[in-house]
Amino acid sequence: MTTIFALASARGRAGVAVMRLSGPRAGAALEQITGQDLPPARRAVFRSFSDPATGAPIDRGLALWFPGPASFTGEDVAELHLHGGPAVVAAMVGVLDRVDGLVPAAPGEFTRRAFENGKMDLTEVEGLADLIDAETEAQRAQALRQMEGALGAIYEGWRADLVHALALLEADLDFPDEDLPDGLEAQAAPALRILAREMREHLADDGRGEVLRSGFQIVILGAPNVGKSSLLNSLARRDVAIVSDVAGTTRDMIEVRLDLGGYPVMLVDTAGLRDSVDAIEQEGVRRALERAERADLRLRLFAPGEDVTTAPGELAVLNKSDMALAETRPDVLRISVRTGAGIAALLERLEAIVVERMSLRDVPALTRARHRRALEDALGHLNRALDGIERRAEAELVAEDVRLAARALGRITGRVDVEEILDVVFSAFCIGK
Ligand code: GDP
Repeated sequence: MTTIFALASARGRAGVAVMRLSGPRAGAALEQITGQDLPPARRAVFRSFSDPATGAPIDRGLALWFPGPASFTGEDVAELHLHGGPAVVAAMVGVLDRVDGLVPAAPGEFTRRAFENGKMDLTEVEGLADLIDAETEAQRAQALRQMEGALGAIYEGWRADLVHALALLEADLDFPDEDLPDGLEAQAAPALRILAREMREHLADDGRGEVLRSGFQIVILGAPNVGKSSLLNSLARRDVAIVSDVAGTTRDMIEVRLDLGGYPVMLVDTAGLRDSVDAIEQEGVRRALERAERADLRLRLFAPGEDVTTAPGELAVLNKSDMALAETRPDVLRISVRTGAGIAALLERLEAIVVERMSLRDVPALTRARHRRALEDALGHLNRALDGIERRAEAELVAEDVRLAARALGRITGRVDVEEILDVVFSAFCIGK
């Protein structure tokens, strides 16, 4: 096993930069760079750091020593807290590179070692990645919960149930002539049925966990000149879209990221939807429609004089309420971007919709398409097994389906059969994590 090192903190100027080393030679490297014996385990000590080859000083700061297995990676780990300047970091990287047996870490390699040493399962690894990427409060809370193992515990629990049912089925197979209690299949069936229901419910969650990870998409739709760009600018409180009196000037989509009550929201302004002979504008309209189709909410904006009609999943809003003609149905929100009237109420309404859709429940939601695929796979096998029990199929076939279901669940946490998915999970990490 090699000993790896990398900058664990972000690049650039900062008060402190943290260099992390992990592997069998981490301790020896720390001794060489500090010119002293290893510090006591898990205690910060002040040290001078120098180039072991020349004795030239590099910096001074804190050194920490985490002997394995009680470390992040499970291996021997050392940390150097340097001053966070580019030259300091570059000098230290140069020195570490020359220390015998040390190699720069690949992206995600520290976390990968933690996984391989049984410190985290794959859902926890993904939770850690999400925690580092979290931009809003709700994203942070969901990621922390996942990193602490809440999601992994559900899947592992289900897998344990499947393995238990499998044991019952296999007892039937292995000892067919023994005097075993009758109908082991019948014994396994109720538990399998409950499991299938739980998995179905977990899958039918509207993708709330996934939406929270990636942001709730709101597309603003409406005829040219109703004030879509103006609304976007007003909500974003900065000029991001071009506002113009000439119909059809917003030719492409403009996105603004908002934090609504701790939830990440992506607001998208689309090109004015109308029939156009202009090729560029037509392309804009096509893309707008496509985007609107995938959105979590369509905000349809109207101007006075237009018929207010909405499709399911749309929120109707009448703009320009400052104008004389601005009469509308009582259930339609009225705003005026120009005067600011109704904007606060609109934001409140949006926040309520977003919270309703994404709020954290007691039971953690699945957060990734990877989990969804594996769960659907598991549920498919499980349903086949239940079907087999009902049709009194051979126990061997039923057992095989249960085994496949357990394996599919195992792929989520990384308990079995994982090599091919490891690269996908870890490649999303940066170096030093
Ligand atoms: P878009 O084509 O839907 O993006 O519309 P714009 O945002 O470009 O706005 C079209 C015109 O309507 C501009 O001249 C805006 O200043 C005007 N406008 C936007 N909001 C209001 C409003 O609340 N009241 C009035 N009177 N005019 C508005």
